Amino acid sequence: MSDEPKRRPILSLKNPPKVVLPEGPKKKPARAPAPPAPPPVQHDWKCKPCGAGFSIEANLADDVVIRCPSCNAKLGLVSDFRADPPPAKLRARPTKRV
Ligand SMILES: [Zn+2]
Repeated sequence: MSDEPKRRPILSLKNPPKVVLPEGPKKKPARAPAPPAPPPVQHDWKCKPCGAGFSIEANLADDVVIRCPSCNAKLGLVSDFRADPPPAKLRARPTKRV
């Protein structure tokens, strides 16, 4: 027996194991494709006082007062907007859809 510490045998790997990177979730490309441009907003109504276009949301109650989003004029009730034809007191006129 010798006092020399036992030398570790040098491992020689003739065929080192191939490092396989774990496949994680696909990374998003740095440049995300731009989302498609939304279609131009088609307003259903036009404010008579100022001419701004706006739309009435379908989920509004009939007794909700509609005000112009631009000039804040009181235009009428939702029920007035839904009437066909719209009453003369309505301070907005329907815009024709293209
Ligand atoms: Zn207005």
